[in-house]
Amino acid sequence: MMAGDGLLVRVKPRLGRLTPVQAAGLAEAALACGSGSLDVTRRANLQIRGVSEAAWPDLLDRLVAFGLVDADGVAESRRNILVSPEWKPGDDTHRIAAALHDRLGELPALPGKVGFVIDAGAVPLLSAEPGDFRIERCSKGDLLLRAEGRAKGAPLRPGGEAQALLDLAQWFAVSGGPTAGRMARHAASLPDWANGGAEPARPKPALTPGMHELGAAYGLPFGRLKAQTLGQLAQMPGVRGIRTTPWRILMVEGGVPGEVDGLSIDPHEPLLRIDACPGMPECPQSSVETRELARRLAPHVAGRLHVSGCAKGCAHSGVADVVLTGRGGAYDLSFGQRAGAPPLRAGLDIDSLIAHFGAT
Ligand code: SF4
Repeated sequence: MMAGDGLLVRVKPRLGRLTPVQAAGLAEAALACGSGSLDVTRRANLQIRGVSEAAWPDLLDRLVAFGLVDADGVAESRRNILVSPEWKPGDDTHRIAAALHDRLGELPALPGKVGFVIDAGAVPLLSAEPGDFRIERCSKGDLLLRAEGRAKGAPLRPGGEAQALLDLAQWFAVSGGPTAGRMARHAASLPDWANGGAEPARPKPALTPGMHELGAAYGLPFGRLKAQTLGQLAQMPGVRGIRTTPWRILMVEGGVPGEVDGLSIDPHEPLLRIDACPGMPECPQSSVETRELARRLAPHVAGRLHVSGCAKGCAHSGVADVVLTGRGGAYDLSFGQRAGAPPLRAGLDIDSLIAHFGAT
């Protein structure tokens, strides 16, 4: 898709994981064909920024060669699977995601943003992350199928999970789901086999930067990453892979804490409490700069700060403690709201915001 700084090319790593070879290949491709900037999205995908029309075919060839993009465009568009980033080889999440992946060709045509969540670890981790058709652990320990927007799901027989997801997607397609757009907005009554009374188990908190069983988790301010940094991570001694997450965190399997340019392993880093979309000039819908202002305000704002280039609020759909929304070249200020909500003060410039928060 086109952005203010060129084409934005999305890469959806299988199982949310890059091998060191793939990570190095992706970094090289982003430098050769794009601006060298990468984003980690809220669906745990990667976006290569600043790609020119001329460089696009070369980039695609490189990504296909590294197994990062499917050569078949239809298959690529169907591969919208968010998996628990704590999966281990052979566990339920791995097994179900691999089975679904092998059968993506059986899916009906679905709206572009419709996707799957496979969160089959011992304790759920992705309960707050959107996804239309879901496999989760229920409070009794079994796996369940749950449609987004429904509080409860249907218990599953072991081995039937991928088939159940395909069946639910098929039902969505023929019952008017594409008109509603997403499962959460699709009000049709579920078929009996998908309409169980099993409650999902309580989730554990999202991952935070620091050391984990799998390795070192690094936070990415604003979800932004330099291609050189990805290459550096891939070459760290002992690294077995790099996992993406929906929380602007990269899990470096086998990694140890260290200095990595632009990333933080400190869970208390103020920049990791901030949501700020790319803003001007990268997004043509923004009339204001966002991230430099967010960096200046970060140490002076208590709680969560959201700086949004416009009322759409792409970086954070929920409420934040302090919200700045760009409009007509100035900022609207609100507290405890979503981006675009009626402001407490409107039309503020950068100098008055710096003064208001006591920043420099
Ligand atoms: S919130 Fe607005 S300005 Fe920011 S990325 Fe989304 S559309 Fe662009």
